[in-house]
Amino acid sequence: MAEYQLTQKIIELSDSDYWETARKEWFFEMIYVSEEPQTCLCGHFPIINICVIRNTKNGNNTEVGNCCINKFLGIDDGNKILPSINRLKEDLSKSMSLESLDYLYDRNVISEREYDFYSDIQRKRNLSLKQSSFKESINEKLLNFTSYEANSIFAKINKILKWAENRDDFDTDFIESLKHNCQRKGTLTNNQKLALDNIIKKFKIE
Ligand SMILES: [Zn+2]
Repeated sequence: MAEYQLTQKIIELSDSDYWETARKEWFFEMIYVSEEPQTCLCGHFPIINICVIRNTKNGNNTEVGNCCINKFLGIDDGNKILPSINRLKEDLSKSMSLESLDYLYDRNVISEREYDFYSDIQRKRNLSLKQSSFKESINEKLLNFTSYEANSIFAKINKILKWAENRDDFDTDFIESLKHNCQRKGTLTNNQKLALDNIIKKFKIE
């Protein structure tokens, strides 16, 4: 039943009307850990480990519980990152996996310098004070980037960018700069958040 509900919802959001081809249209975009329990597309409640997936054909995106995405769509990216998130939540001085580091680098969350530094010290135990604090600042970026807050900001940004695709008169530079900001910091200032909300309201973006 849960599986039926999930596959129906995914098919609705896909170009293909058949599950076996519809499921191939989707790829992993982001994972986040929600503070507020949410309901999975399959109907399960509560879920807190949530993956955002995107459709390659029509640009739709949706959120699915990490275990369902694994089981039904065969997407296992979340499993490579989740253990690092949980480990660092317990102890910020521990190390994230190299897959998590790649995840951050691919999404412009960390710089090349941060990436090189971290891959260098990832397995080392005796770090200088300066090195450990630099390492922890990078660890924090993983936690910030996979937070409920960051995800809700990215959801708004992506909604505006998708809407703007059909609007020649809307300059997306400002939105792109907020996106870049949120990637680097995992959040925005209150004024920046307000600006996003105002744009959504002003243009009635659904
Ligand atoms: Zn589910």
